[in-house]
Amino acid sequence: MNVDRSRIDVVVTRPINTPKRKLSGGHNEEERAKKAIRLNENHIQATSNQEGIQFSSLKMKDQLDVIAQYLQHHSKALPFLKSFNETYFPQRDAMQESEACAHLNLIKDLINELSSLQEHSKQGVEEFQTQAFFLLGLLARNGTACLAINAAAGIKVVVAQLQIVCKVSLFSSCCFALGNFCSAIEEEGSFFEFIEEKRVISLLLNTLVKNMVDWELVQQIAFALGNIVYVSDFEESVLAANGVQVVLDALMTHIDSICMKDVIFFLLNVSYGEAGRKSMMEHHAIAKILYALQKHILDPEFSEFSLGILFDLTFSSAIPELVKSPNINIIYNAILQHRTVASIVPISMKLLMNLFVGAEPADRFRLVESGLVETIQAMNLPPQKTRSIFAAITKSLASFSSVPADPVPSLQETVARRIMKEKIDIQFIPDDLKSYIQTPLGNCSVCEGVFYEHCWKKLARKKVAGEMVPMYLKCCSRNCFESTNDNQ
Ligand SMILES: [Zn+2]
Repeated sequence: MNVDRSRIDVVVTRPINTPKRKLSGGHNEEERAKKAIRLNENHIQATSNQEGIQFSSLKMKDQLDVIAQYLQHHSKALPFLKSFNETYFPQRDAMQESEACAHLNLIKDLINELSSLQEHSKQGVEEFQTQAFFLLGLLARNGTACLAINAAAGIKVVVAQLQIVCKVSLFSSCCFALGNFCSAIEEEGSFFEFIEEKRVISLLLNTLVKNMVDWELVQQIAFALGNIVYVSDFEESVLAANGVQVVLDALMTHIDSICMKDVIFFLLNVSYGEAGRKSMMEHHAIAKILYALQKHILDPEFSEFSLGILFDLTFSSAIPELVKSPNINIIYNAILQHRTVASIVPISMKLLMNLFVGAEPADRFRLVESGLVETIQAMNLPPQKTRSIFAAITKSLASFSSVPADPVPSLQETVARRIMKEKIDIQFIPDDLKSYIQTPLGNCSVCEGVFYEHCWKKLARKKVAGEMVPMYLKCCSRNCFESTNDNQ
C-alpha cells in the first residue's frame, strides 16, 4: 500500500470565536403545544369581578397591569398569573419582540414580593411563587425586561429560592426563570462569582440526579445549566459535579423525548472546552450522541447541536471513532437530511473537513469510499468552493492506491471473468464453482467488466457534469488502473 502521510491544504483550526448559543426556554414546540392544550382544559376563567372583563381578551400590557394591581392578594392574582403564563409560554418569538414585557413596575413588585415571601418563610404560597417565577422567566425573554430583572437582583432571588427545599414544580419554574435571566448578563465576572459562591451548578446537577425520571424537570434544569455555562466558563464546577455523566445519563433516560434538545444544548456548550470534551470521551459520549441524533434526525435544531458537538470533539481525538462505520454513515445521513438548512451547512462542512484532514490516510480513503464526495455535492455549495475542496481531497489522496499482491488474477478468477464476459452457459459445472462465478465483488470503474478478489483501487478525478470530482475507483486490471491517469 502506498500511503500518503502529507496533510492537505485545507486548514481547519479551532474557531475560538464560534458563538455558543442561548435558548429562551422550553424549546419544544410539540410538547409545549400539548402542555398548553392540557392546561387550557382546566383553565379557570379569570375575570375581573367589578368590570366583568374577560382577562384573556386583553392585550399583553393590560393583562400585566391587572396582575400588577392584584399582586399583594395572592389568591386573586393566581388565576391571572396562570392564564397569562399558559397563553404566552408558546409565544417565545412574539415576547422577544414585545415592549410590553418591560413592565418595570410589575417586575420590581414581583421581585420584592418573592423576596419578602422568602424572608418571612411563608407557608402555602408555593403555587403563587411557581407562577410568579415563571412569569418573570417569560418576561425575561425580552432583552429590556431581562436587563430590568437583573438590575433588580432577580437572579439573587431565584437562586435563593432554589436553595430552599421546595416542590419540584417550583424548582422547575425557578430553573426556567434562571435560564432566561442569563440571556442578558451585563457583567460576566460578578455573575460567575455569584454562581460559584452559591454553588448553583452542583445544586442543579444534584437535583437532576435525584429526579432523573421527571422529564419536565430534567428539561428545565438542562435549560438553566446550558444557559449558565453559555455566559461564562463553569467547566471546573460542571466536571466537579460529574456533570457530563449526569447529563448523558439524562439523555439516555429520555432518549425519545423532544425535551432532549435542552440536554444536547447543554452538552454543546460543555464540548467547547478541552476538559469538557475529555470528560465526554471518557463517558462514551460519541455513541450516545449518535444514537440520539439517529432518533431525532428530522429535527434541524437537534441535528445542528449534535453536529456541533461532534465537530468540537474532533479536536479531542474523536476522529478515529467518528470515521468508523456505521458512525460516519449516521453523520452523512444527518447532513444530507438538512443539506439545505443555512445554519447547518457551515457546521457540516467544518465537521467533514476536520474529519478528513485529521483522519489517517487509510481512513481518509474510507471516508471517500463511504460517500464524502456525494455528501459535499448534495449541499450545493458555490462551485468555486466545491472545486477547491475536491482539489484538496484529490491532492491528498493522489498517491494513495491499493494494488493486489499478484499482478495477475488467479486462474479461477480469470476463467470466471471470461465466462461472465462471454456469457458462457454454466449449468453443467459444479455448484461451488457456479456460486463463485455468479457472485463477483464488483464491476471495474473503467471497463465495467467483473472482478472477484483481484482489484486495483485508487482515488482519481473524473469529470462529472462538467466538474472534476474525486472518485473512488476499483479496477479489474493494471491496464484499466493505469488508464485512469489520463483523466487527471
Ligand atoms: Zn477493467
